[in-house]
Amino acid sequence: MFKIGCHLSIANGFLKAGKNIVELGGNTFQYFSRNPQGGRARPWDQLDFEGFMEYASYSGIEGLLCHAPYTLNACSANPDTREFARMVFKSDLEMLEHFPNALYNFHPGSHTGQGVEVGITQIVEILNEVIDPTMKTTILLETMAGKGSEIGRSFEEIAEIISRVTHNEKLGVCLDTCHIYSAGYDIVKNLDEVLNEFDSIIGLDRLKAIHLNDSMMPFASNKDRHAKIGEGTIGLDAIVRIINHPKLKNLPFYLETPNDDEGYKLEIALLKKYRTN
Ligand code: FE
Ligand code: FE
Ligand code: ZN
Repeated sequence: MFKIGCHLSIANGFLKAGKNIVELGGNTFQYFSRNPQGGRARPWDQLDFEGFMEYASYSGIEGLLCHAPYTLNACSANPDTREFARMVFKSDLEMLEHFPNALYNFHPGSHTGQGVEVGITQIVEILNEVIDPTMKTTILLETMAGKGSEIGRSFEEIAEIISRVTHNEKLGVCLDTCHIYSAGYDIVKNLDEVLNEFDSIIGLDRLKAIHLNDSMMPFASNKDRHAKIGEGTIGLDAIVRIINHPKLKNLPFYLETPNDDEGYKLEIALLKKYRTN
């Protein structure tokens, strides 16, 4: 089954978002755990959650992907920012335990001048503090474009974080097509090679979700600007190869393209048309 969806707001609750994704032709969606630029989470609404779970069970909605706010930076030079990251991780992970097997995606962080090694050490430290070995959620590290002091620009950096976390059976990876293309992984010309590299450095069994985005920026530019599907430097042909690749096709795909509902509806329809099974 083709698991396809997009980023949606849960400002009006999970049930509304669930109905919205079905309306758009999808069967899964990503949402922000809280205001992406701020800190506050929506208060937990048990009734809405139960309504959503029931709706999901008969409308064919599969697992959801929860995205941490952009303000979460586990490796900032500022200790207050790291403390905020710890608080957000703990409270988001607690909220996600309501779901059967949630996925929680975060940006590894920006070391803000401390250097990659210090940054990775701080990320590992926080992950070790917030991971409860009995939790049902899997935390995903997102592959990044490598702008500024971003960590997670290479498969090696992601693999190093994973290898140093004690309960790393709780960790996986979310691959963002725009980000890795900007980071210098040529998924347009050498998709198989890139996936083999991912497999040998991180392991494809860690790959749990795909952010499906075209890119406004050239290959290896380290810039993070998403484009609509088929309107960027990655292009429709490469994206069609990605959604149909035997090593990727069973993963959930989430669009984070610059679209309103109408645009997402068209992109989801387009991708379903090009999906081979
Ligand atoms: Fe992201
Ligand atoms: Fe992304
Ligand atoms: Zn991005």
